[in-house]
Amino acid sequence: MMVPVRCFTCGTVVGEHWEEFKHRTREASEPEDPEKVLDDLGIERHCCRRMMVSHKDLVDIVAPYQ
Ligand SMILES: [Zn+2]
Repeated sequence: MMVPVRCFTCGTVVGEHWEEFKHRTREASEPEDPEKVLDDLGIERHCCRRMMVSHKDLVDIVAPYQ
């Protein structure tokens, strides 16, 4: 499942930052603090930040059942 392109609450485009956020917080050899990465990406509103923090790539979970 892709991350929603826009924040549900305010409509700001957040989807374009997902790959970088995911990489820097989870896949990098030295993962960064998600809080810092969000600040860095310019995602300042809490409604938008929760979009990133709470999102899971469901593709990995759903894929075996297709
Ligand atoms: Zn928002």
